[in-house]
Amino acid sequence: MDLKIREDAYKMAIEKWGAKAQLEMAQEEATELALAVRKHIRKNDEESFSNLVEEIADVEIMIEQIVMMHSDFGFRQMVDAQKAFKISRLLKRMNDNSFEALEKEK
Ligand SMILES: [Mg+2]
Repeated sequence: MDLKIREDAYKMAIEKWGAKAQLEMAQEEATELALAVRKHIRKNDEESFSNLVEEIADVEIMIEQIVMMHSDFGFRQMVDAQKAFKISRLLKRMNDNSFEALEKEK
């Protein structure tokens, strides 16, 4: 879906229900995703797969709203910086020279 349509929808939701309610919804959706992952591990079938897809979509929608709510503070850039740091650390922990290999590809 087009970014502008998503952003307009998020803005309307935040204005309608308020930032606190949307943060609480993000908390609920994160919990639902955790349970969907648990179920998918326990019973990997079509239903658990479909539920996993749905809950990932829900969480991504709420994450996008949280980012939008804090956009004045450079939130997206801060999250991106954290992701870069954590992915670099992950690659280093795997101790297989992947990080160096990826850096050389740039
Ligand atoms: Mg959900």
